[in-house]
Amino acid sequence: MMTTATTEGTSRETFVAALRSAGLRTTGPRLATLNALELRPHADTDTLIRHVRAELGTVSAQAVYNVLATLVQAELVRRIEPAGSSALYELRVGDNHHHVVCRLCGAVADVDCAVGYRPCLTPSETHGYLLDEAEVTYWGYCPSCRKRRTSGDPGDVKVPIDDKQRNNGGKDD
Ligand SMILES: [Zn+2]
Ligand SMILES: [Zn+2]
Repeated sequence: MMTTATTEGTSRETFVAALRSAGLRTTGPRLATLNALELRPHADTDTLIRHVRAELGTVSAQAVYNVLATLVQAELVRRIEPAGSSALYELRVGDNHHHVVCRLCGAVADVDCAVGYRPCLTPSETHGYLLDEAEVTYWGYCPSCRKRRTSGDPGDVKVPIDDKQRNNGGKDD
């Protein structure tokens, strides 16, 4: 698990070292994006843009998109895209962990792999593909949505995650 916000200086050093070892220059938007991801794992792009702007002032959305593409390419950031959700980003890379996603509110949490490193990469048939990732998503209802469902609250209505809920999903914790 990612520890909660370390002192900014410590994170900064860690991020600068990570960028350097990936052969990337340290820039304000890259550091701000990494900072945002440390605070908000599984954040979507809108959430990250808000955080980066809060830290740096005016930054274009395109600049943040570019930073994310670069960081994903360098494998410093992992991109996941649960069905029906916008792309989500996190700093926890390389362990091929799984995710649980709430069908109602879109909340996402990490689940450690049950069988070990990079599970399910040895399927019975690869069809000649060179495989490098297996992604498992468990779908269900998060604790607060379960409570609403069992208490018979009208919030019980089963609705697919729509754009509005997704965009709100990042805010309420
Ligand atoms: Zn939920
Ligand atoms: Zn995760």
